[in-house]
Amino acid sequence: MSDSIFTRIIKREIPASIEYEDDEIIAFRDITPQAPVHILVVPKRPIPTLNDTSPDDAALLGRLLLTARDIAVAKGIAESGFRLVTNCNADAGQTVFHLHVHLLGGLKMGHNFA
Ligand code: AMP
Repeated sequence: MSDSIFTRIIKREIPASIEYEDDEIIAFRDITPQAPVHILVVPKRPIPTLNDTSPDDAALLGRLLLTARDIAVAKGIAESGFRLVTNCNADAGQTVFHLHVHLLGGLKMGHNFA
């Protein structure tokens, strides 16, 4: 299977505005931001969707949330508030099949999940 666009970012084959990186996780700005802060927090391992995780991935999944929280703190939106979103498969509108968490903040959001 060919690399996902996010794996190509991890391999530095295409550019991205990288906000955070460690051995397991990379975070970069969404190319089509839906909020003043819109950062994607991505495991380097190319897991297609949340459906493809197992209990063995619990620590990694926890680290994705903690990393998103830390970036929210660094961006100054932790106190005002932020939203984390993970889309899974077609009905959720997932377009990139490499697991990721959207970190959204910097504006007052409603509760429209449509
Ligand atoms: P999803 O619809 O949940 O799969 O989210 C995929 C996200 O990836 C979308 O918000 C896109 O704007 C974003 N995206 C796609 N290509 C890139 C890219 N090259 N760099 C940064 N973000 C991207």
